[in-house]
Amino acid sequence: MSLEVCNWKYGKRWVYSITYDEALADLHRFAVPLHEGCGIPGHVEVVVGQLGEVRAVGESSYNGFRHMNGEELKDLLTRGWGVGNHSWSHLLIEPPMMDRELRQAREVLEEAIGAPVHLYCASGDNSNMSDHVLAQCRRLGYLGAMSLTDALNRPGEELFWINRTALHDHYYAPFFSEFDPYRNIRQAQEDGGWIIDYCHCPLEVPVHPNKDCSESQLRRRFETVLSEGGDRVWCAVPEEALFYHLCRRHLHIEVLADSLTEKRFRLDFVGLSERVDRRELTFELKVPPAWCRFPRVLLDGRQQPAEVARPGVLRVTVDVTGGGELTFGPGA
Ligand SMILES: [Zn+2]
Repeated sequence: MSLEVCNWKYGKRWVYSITYDEALADLHRFAVPLHEGCGIPGHVEVVVGQLGEVRAVGESSYNGFRHMNGEELKDLLTRGWGVGNHSWSHLLIEPPMMDRELRQAREVLEEAIGAPVHLYCASGDNSNMSDHVLAQCRRLGYLGAMSLTDALNRPGEELFWINRTALHDHYYAPFFSEFDPYRNIRQAQEDGGWIIDYCHCPLEVPVHPNKDCSESQLRRRFETVLSEGGDRVWCAVPEEALFYHLCRRHLHIEVLADSLTEKRFRLDFVGLSERVDRRELTFELKVPPAWCRFPRVLLDGRQQPAEVARPGVLRVTVDVTGGGELTFGPGA
């Protein structure tokens, strides 16, 4: 058997992330404490032109709520959250607007939070996933673009149409629905998929039933993810899953040795974006049973903590930032 790169980090079966569009300060009322309690990271999508200001976007249901400012977003980063660009204006992005909505907005946001921004998140609806917008996102080096399509994301897929599951009280006519805390989970378990929920700012009651859930519905969703996921779900900030996904896609493995005493592989990345500055991957390898006793796995000569994933299969998560040689051999 050859060296396998696991679909997801740590050999987890499926992935759960959640995003909050508009990055409203009232997330601190219910959502942020709930995240802390459950150990799940969150992610906010920022309307950069109104950073720190009281929202005034067309007829938005969230007008009057305040957007977080740079310091508040930095605080979320220290809690393990992530931050995406939800455009400058939240309007339909026509080609002449792209520089402000995609390049300048990202620049201002990166300056405000003191960290790189890797994700674009369409505002309004999928009209903001137009060909010209996505082409510009690629040119600017974004690592992915998030849509409003309710579907799973799968390990082999391209990242410039990332799907998000609407975590809403109910859906728009004519497809009325009931809040479902299990939404897409069974399929994620089966297909090894990545769920990214989205809502806005869960409070006592949904601010808008077609755009949000309540805090009790959010709690029920997290309880369901944790009970259904057990130790097989990876609750990750989207950037970490994105980095993993890209590293996996761009990894090149060369077999250097395959004998009874050693299996050795050369790891390299081909065509991977410089913006992917964390490059950890999880590998599995079938080995002789004796190698599972006190496993010996080395990256460039340094022992790595390996585990027995299944009988005769070793699993190891290593930082392969600079490539390197991964060696498996008989244990002590
Ligand atoms: Zn929005």
